[in-house]
Amino acid sequence: MRIGIGYDSHKLVEGRKLIIGGVEIPHEKGLLGHSDADVLCHAIIDSILGAMGEGDIGKHFPDTDGKWQGASSIRLLSKVIELAGQKGFGIVNIDSTVIAEKPKLAPYIEAMKDSLSKAGLPSASINIKAKSNEGMGFTGRGEGIAAEAVCLLKTRG
Ligand code: MG
Repeated sequence: MRIGIGYDSHKLVEGRKLIIGGVEIPHEKGLLGHSDADVLCHAIIDSILGAMGEGDIGKHFPDTDGKWQGASSIRLLSKVIELAGQKGFGIVNIDSTVIAEKPKLAPYIEAMKDSLSKAGLPSASINIKAKSNEGMGFTGRGEGIAAEAVCLLKTRG
């Protein structure tokens, strides 16, 4: 068994779609980033890579590489799950938290789990929690959204 941790944050700006866990969420602002800035997918990707001892998302999908411009992070997540499989790892479970003052994310959690399951994470292996930050810090002021994830991997066979 191997464990990994992941963290990510992105700035909220006007004129961008808000995509979290592969789900487009209606909001007046979206997350700014090179890809679709899906903060939850990025934290999950880093937790899987961390458990594998394979560095981080920037090493595998550099933002200097035009190939990943505007990329769907669900696609990046599928690639990382594929890599884990190739290296002989199976995902036991992932737990995650998204920290956002607005919008309220609870109504979208089931849709996020569905979309993550299409990337290769079975619904039973993933848990998503949504928290506000009680008005404190950059998340609390609505300047950005953050996400944290932990992943447990097992060696296959
Ligand atoms: Mg990111």
